Amino acid sequence: MPDRARELIALEERYGAHTYRPLDVVVERAEGVWLWDVNGRRYLDCVSAYSALNHGHAHPRIRAALVEQSQRLSLTSRAMYNDQLPLLLERLSSVTGYESALPMNTGVEAVETAIKLARRWGYEVKNIPADRAEIVVFDNNFHGRTITAISASSTEQYRSGFGPLLPGFVFVPFGDLGALERALSPRTCAVLIEPIQGEGGVVVPPEGFLADAARVCREHNVLFVADEIQTGLGRTGDLFACDHERVRPDILIVGKALGGGYYPVSAVLASRALMELFGAGDHGSTFGGNPLAAAVARTALDVTVEEDLPGRARSAGETILSGLRAMPSPRIKEVRGRGLLIGVELDMPARTLADALLARGIVAKDTHERVLRIAPPLVIDNEATALLLDRFADAILVPA
Ligand SMILES: *Cc1c(COP(=O)(O)O)cnc(C)c1O
Repeated sequence: MPDRARELIALEERYGAHTYRPLDVVVERAEGVWLWDVNGRRYLDCVSAYSALNHGHAHPRIRAALVEQSQRLSLTSRAMYNDQLPLLLERLSSVTGYESALPMNTGVEAVETAIKLARRWGYEVKNIPADRAEIVVFDNNFHGRTITAISASSTEQYRSGFGPLLPGFVFVPFGDLGALERALSPRTCAVLIEPIQGEGGVVVPPEGFLADAARVCREHNVLFVADEIQTGLGRTGDLFACDHERVRPDILIVGKALGGGYYPVSAVLASRALMELFGAGDHGSTFGGNPLAAAVARTALDVTVEEDLPGRARSAGETILSGLRAMPSPRIKEVRGRGLLIGVELDMPARTLADALLARGIVAKDTHERVLRIAPPLVIDNEATALLLDRFADAILVPA
């Protein structure tokens, strides 16, 4: 590795918190599905910032919207109206079919918002006794890193040493309908679910589970809340992963790709009746719904629809899934996923394979010890897909 890259890594190690263990590459620019490091070497991006880059890097239309808006108006706060937020809200509604949206910035803030809304519904509509509301969540989930999100997590490393944690979360195994039904009580306001667990290792629930879970929620007067921050906006081959089973969540959480790869934008989507449970002063965010975010997110939505990113994810995903499944390596225990959210479970540390791929010009990251996630931008073409499969077949031959 050249001195410049070493120097930059040393600077980061010296002055930063060590909360990540990045791959050994220092990226300096990117376009579409490609990254270039400080040495001018090119890589195929199969991380896509955990689905925040569904549109690819530097999409020309989204970049133009960002530049144009940044020259006119960037920030007002919600103390006044701006001329961009209404257009984003209208577009979110027409694209998703939800009556109303509440914009935030990062994904975890939208999760937090959805939890507040679900609890408020529990008290005001379901008449749950004050401060007793419960939310059912799934083992091995990931909803972010705030105290609320880690309180809803079953992963020991995320939780331990950060208490006291929030009460009111009930855990059930992912995909276990009986356990879900037994966990519901008159105090349950919501079930919070990722339709496919992303950070948890690309875990796909049994076919029919989402539809069954949504039905059980309806029968028990419980809100079905889907965290589609990673799975949403085309990633799994449908606009939303819940669409695969024709499930329409009561509350839908979006983030990551909503920002078009340029800007943190998240939102909570719900019916008008639910959203009315928030009044003035009940919730807010200084940056949420700012004009720059709104212009970028509206364009990101337009590109998703007009360039049929879900359809592209579906066809490229099928090619990659079947290509990987056809590889005869004894190191591969399972290939799973949907669309371009793909997990390869290995009989060796996934980091070893990630390093071997990096040496071959592919950036992909381990998620959990033995699962490698492959999630390129949805704009990946046939040539890049072929290159990915070719390099993967070579990398999997390395000794563990
Ligand atoms: C990434 C992610 C989050 C958190 O989003 P941030 O923008 O990192 O706060 C929450 N839920 C899911 C399913 C995610 O993948």
